[in-house]
Amino acid sequence: QRVEIAFELRRALQQQELRVHYQPVHELATSRLIGVEALVRWEHPTRGLVSPAEFIPIAERTGLIAQVDAWVMDQACRQMCQWQQAGVALSFVAVNVSSRLFARRELYDQVAQVLHDTGLDPGCLELEVTESAVMEDPEVALEQMHRLRELGVRLAIDDFGTGYSSLLRLKRLPVQKLKIDQGFVAGLPWDEDDVAIVRVIIALAHSMGMQVHAEGIEQREQAAFLLGQACELGQGYWFGRPVAAAQLDWGRAPVIA
Ligand code: C2E
Ligand code: MG
Ligand code: MG
Repeated sequence: QRVEIAFELRRALQQQELRVHYQPVHELATSRLIGVEALVRWEHPTRGLVSPAEFIPIAERTGLIAQVDAWVMDQACRQMCQWQQAGVALSFVAVNVSSRLFARRELYDQVAQVLHDTGLDPGCLELEVTESAVMEDPEVALEQMHRLRELGVRLAIDDFGTGYSSLLRLKRLPVQKLKIDQGFVAGLPWDEDDVAIVRVIIALAHSMGMQVHAEGIEQREQAAFLLGQACELGQGYWFGRPVAAAQLDWGRAPVIA
């Protein structure tokens, strides 16, 4: 099945079967929609919508991930430019960068190229890298991050708390944001362990001058707890699911408190 998916993924790239969906990110203090995360989807002719959890690992093993991520980044930047031209006030579009690409020098060239091609303000592009991608080869990651920062893009650590982080190294990273993994958000505000962990992550991020962004918010109580802990940003089904660009609801600002 893996071989088949890899084969079909090649075709999908050529025949433009991939789609980008966008999930809203809200500022908790005002509840307003402030950014979006680009999430890839595969509209398979017979299987229907295939989730990235199914094909990203295969794309990574076959090397197709470079093309997938480059395509998503290009689409997301173009879309962001269109929104800006239409007068939509969004501060950022976030894209996921595979750990396979993160350590490679081409990433810098690719980001520079897409910014050049689309003319997007680099400050509006956020790159999400996972904690494990950064900690796998911290020296290379640090150098890469500094170069990317010179381009003016924003950097975020995705799925924070699920990998292994050296706090000493974390401190030195030129990162603007930590994204709390949804696994910790799920138990809020009732699970004592999740409460303790989330509090610590927020304190840690703030003490290092980073913003905190919680993902996987499915209930109002979770958003309210996070707001109470001074977490800046929230994302999850409670605010809105990932949808095609045209389906985003710009006016939505659900009442948290
Ligand atoms: P991620 O970057 O951590 O993205 C968040 C995932 O959580 C998304 O799953 C999103 O649909 C889902 N999610 C959002 N809100 C909620 C919620 O309230 N509850 C629950 N249970 N889930 C929620 P998705 O779109 O299936 O993507 C899964 C993962 O695939 C992403 O995790 C990311 O690591 C990877 N991925 C997605 N798009 C790309 C891409 O373009 N490139 C690369 N390299 N990876 C991607
Ligand atoms: Mg992400
Ligand atoms: Mg995540």
